[in-house]
Amino acid sequence: MKQDNHGKNHKYGMVIDLDKCTGCGSCMVACMSENNVPFKEDETRKKDSITWMRVYKLTNGKPFPETEICYMPRPCMHCGGKGDHGHSPCVSVCPAVATDYDHSTGIVSQIYTRCFGCRYCMGACPYHVRYFNWWDPKWPEGMENYLSPDVSPRMRGVVEKCSFCFHRYQQAKDRAYVEEREEIEEQEYQTACTQACPAGAITFGDLNNPDHAVHQMVKPDPHACGKPRNPKAFRLLERLETNPKVYYISERDWVRKAGDNYLEGEWEKVKNNHDKGHE
Ligand code: SF4
Ligand code: SF4
Repeated sequence: MKQDNHGKNHKYGMVIDLDKCTGCGSCMVACMSENNVPFKEDETRKKDSITWMRVYKLTNGKPFPETEICYMPRPCMHCGGKGDHGHSPCVSVCPAVATDYDHSTGIVSQIYTRCFGCRYCMGACPYHVRYFNWWDPKWPEGMENYLSPDVSPRMRGVVEKCSFCFHRYQQAKDRAYVEEREEIEEQEYQTACTQACPAGAITFGDLNNPDHAVHQMVKPDPHACGKPRNPKAFRLLERLETNPKVYYISERDWVRKAGDNYLEGEWEKVKNNHDKGHE
């Protein structure tokens, strides 16, 4: 599909169908392999392990036999910030401009050689998607031969996070340039996790393109910073107005409710208003 974004900048985003995700972890493995994310011999210290894409397990909190499980993959949300001006929480606090918002794609970058490891961004990110390199990366002997040449490994003392496989975007742009095309095709730029998911739970594309599946699945409201108009879709911690570009979809009420810290009685109001708006 040609990327017709009607003269606007691209706004790459992801829609994750939580009713399809089986929690198999293929997205995590594909992401680590694609982006040279190191692992440690002892991964039991979960706070120190680096997983740009992390799959969380949620339950409805009910005892058997009413127990229900949901798996929630969580990449970087590539927040656009209030008003979509690119003032994402992490970008706003970085004193070194080591993380930046690209207005032509909506992608929040991480520039390792600028980062000096103050970790302000980690404190600012409400989604815990950023990881600090406490050690230089180490791979089992021989495995360094299988690293991706397109992604630089990170050194001790810097922060890293999901980039929406930005190197793949650059490769697609290069290919288009050589072939004298101005735009890339939608399928030319897909993230590794999207391609690896055996359940087809992840859809990736340009939210500004009304013809693309990601746009049609969530129907982002241009007058409300991309808030989903599909009542089954939601973003994490919507009330913070971080304006994430990762959307989730679920038919299940309790799963959608888990997306924010609703106060007592608040969820019912939100749900009723939402349902009325979509009758
Ligand atoms: S999810 Fe966190 S790291 Fe990603 S753009 Fe938002 S604030 Fe920054
Ligand atoms: S740790 Fe690096 S990226 Fe994060 S705020 Fe500090 S300098 Fe910026």
